[in-house]
Amino acid sequence: MTQPSATTAARILDGKAIALEIQNEIRDEVAALVEQTGKRPKLAAVLVGDYPASQVYVRNKEMACKRVGMTSELIRLSAATTTEELEQLIERLNTDEETSGILVQLPLPKHIDAQRILDAIDWRKDVDAFHPYNVGLLSQGRPQFLPCTPYGVIQILYRSQIKTAGKKVCIIGRSDIVGKPLASMLVQRSSPIGPDWANATVTLAHSQTPNLAAVTSDADILIAAIGQPEFVKAEMVRPGATVIDVGINRLGERLVGDVDFESVKEVAGAITPVPGGVGPLTVTMLLNNTLIAARLKNGG
Ligand code: NDP
Repeated sequence: MTQPSATTAARILDGKAIALEIQNEIRDEVAALVEQTGKRPKLAAVLVGDYPASQVYVRNKEMACKRVGMTSELIRLSAATTTEELEQLIERLNTDEETSGILVQLPLPKHIDAQRILDAIDWRKDVDAFHPYNVGLLSQGRPQFLPCTPYGVIQILYRSQIKTAGKKVCIIGRSDIVGKPLASMLVQRSSPIGPDWANATVTLAHSQTPNLAAVTSDADILIAAIGQPEFVKAEMVRPGATVIDVGINRLGERLVGDVDFESVKEVAGAITPVPGGVGPLTVTMLLNNTLIAARLKNGG
């Protein structure tokens, strides 16, 4: 008699459920802060132009604020806004007593100097953690704010009890938003959730990495942040490895990650889906940073 082949499909790491769990904790902390100070944390989100994906992201952020009891203000500006006009708005928000955190939705229209705008945000209100001062603090292992997507990845690992200490972690993608700060966090001696979710041996791969598959298949934890639909195939993954898919790509009507989920889940030990993996955590860590910013404003 022919036996069916024994495949052990990967454990699916449910980012949506983890995000809800953290949002419930944040909601309780917001309620306690309001009771203590009489002030409600507020996120100001700046949206320039009408890039469709940005509209969705900003709407999700507003809804998430509401869920945890924070207020939010969406400031919509026309695509014709100049760098100087946007800078003036940021200066006003920097000194606005009501505003705890400022978020400028990226990408900005091409004619705007995005670096100048991000640099203009007061680092105490920099809930995306893109300001050079916050990047520097992170690199020195004493962060004030942790960047949302990288910290979301670490929260998924933490809440799934997958430790990074002593593990070989390979990150594909070296952007300032995901790959680089995530590598910076994972090589530290500790993290806000303790040393078990730091202390990794990190390989940061990119488009110039030769023999990428040999590098990725050596990793205990493989994190893809590339922006190429279903790029990571089963043969690039070590059997039993944890695979975290940061990618969000539109493939026709479908939203897919940077990992070929169907084939990789047959070899991986654990894997995040897209959608419902890292995405919900990014929004949640933004709420966490807004709470930190509100506390900072109230003296710590
Ligand atoms: P970037 O385009 O800024 O960076 C992509 C990185 O991937 C670069 O370092 C690039 O290398 C590398 N890369 C591209 N092609 C290859 C390849 N063939 N082999 C190896 N490396 C390659 O992207 P982001 O970091 O901003 O975003 C990455 C993905 O994550 C996107 O799909 C984005 O939509 C998604 N994302 C998801 C978020 C979430 O909340 N889930 C949040 C932020 C982003 P090089 O530097 O050499 O060009």
